[in-house]
Amino acid sequence: MRFGNLDGRAVLITDGGAIDVHTASDGRFGPSPAECYEQWADLRAWAGTAAASGAAAAFDPARLGAPSPNPRQSIGIGLNYAKHAAEGGIPVPEWPTTFTKFPSCLGGPNDPVALPSAGVDWEVELVVVIGVTAHKVGRADGWAHVAGLTIGQDLSERKVQMRPPVPQFNLGKSFPGFGPTGPWLVTPDELANPDDLALSCTVNGETMQDSRTSDLIFSVPVLIEELSGIITLLPGDVIFTGTPEGVGMARKPPRFLAPGDEIVSTIEGIGSMTTRLVAG
Ligand code: ZN
Repeated sequence: MRFGNLDGRAVLITDGGAIDVHTASDGRFGPSPAECYEQWADLRAWAGTAAASGAAAAFDPARLGAPSPNPRQSIGIGLNYAKHAAEGGIPVPEWPTTFTKFPSCLGGPNDPVALPSAGVDWEVELVVVIGVTAHKVGRADGWAHVAGLTIGQDLSERKVQMRPPVPQFNLGKSFPGFGPTGPWLVTPDELANPDDLALSCTVNGETMQDSRTSDLIFSVPVLIEELSGIITLLPGDVIFTGTPEGVGMARKPPRFLAPGDEIVSTIEGIGSMTTRLVAG
C-alpha cells in the first residue's frame, strides 16, 4: 500500500491516482494522516477491500505533503553506517547514537528549504513511520510496529551541530525545513526485502551518496528494539535511520549547500524526492 498526504488529507496512492481515505471509508478513517496512524491496523485491513479500490483521481504530485506531517516524536540516528562513521573519524558505535529532530523542522517533499548559513550539509536517509505503539518490543516484532517507509533528508548545519563542548545534534539538525520527507509512505510488504534497499542522493546531478540499507549497523527492527526499550514509540512518530558515507563535511575540501542547489534523494521501491535550497 502507498499512503500519502494530499493537501493535508490522507490518501491511498494507486496507479489510477489518489483515493481520499475519509471519503472512500464514509468517514471511518481520517481525514488527516495523523488520524489514520492511530487506526493503522484497521486501515490496512480496510485498504485491502473493494470499498477502498474506487474513486481514484489524478493529482498533481506538487500537492503532496509529508506522510506524517506532525508526529509527536521525531528521532534521528547518527553514525548508523560503518563507512559514514569512518569518514567522521569515529569508531563504530555499540549503541544507536540518538538525537531529536524537533518536529517543527519537518517538511514535505516539495518544500524549498532556506539555508541559515553556508555550512549546511545533505544526508539522505530511510525514514520509518511508526504504525503501532511500541514499548519494550523485541527485534523479531520490530517490523510489525512499522506503518511504512519513506525518503528523508536529515539536513544538518555543521557549525551548530559541532559547537563545543559537546555536539549539539538536536539544534544543528532542526532549523525550519531541515527534515523533508516524502513523497509518500510505502508499506513494508510492498518491498521485496525492506532490510536491503538501495539509497542515494545527488546534488545538482552529481552523485554524492550511494549505498544500501543492508549496510545499516542497527537495522530497522533493531532500532525499534533499542528505542522502545527506553521510550514509547507512538503512531505517526518518525525515525530518520541514519545516513551513509558521502556527506559534504567529510569531503576534501569540504562541500556545503548553496542557494539554487537541488538535492535528489532516491530509495529503491519508494521513489525520489527533490529538495531545492534557497537563500535564508
Ligand atoms: Zn542523519
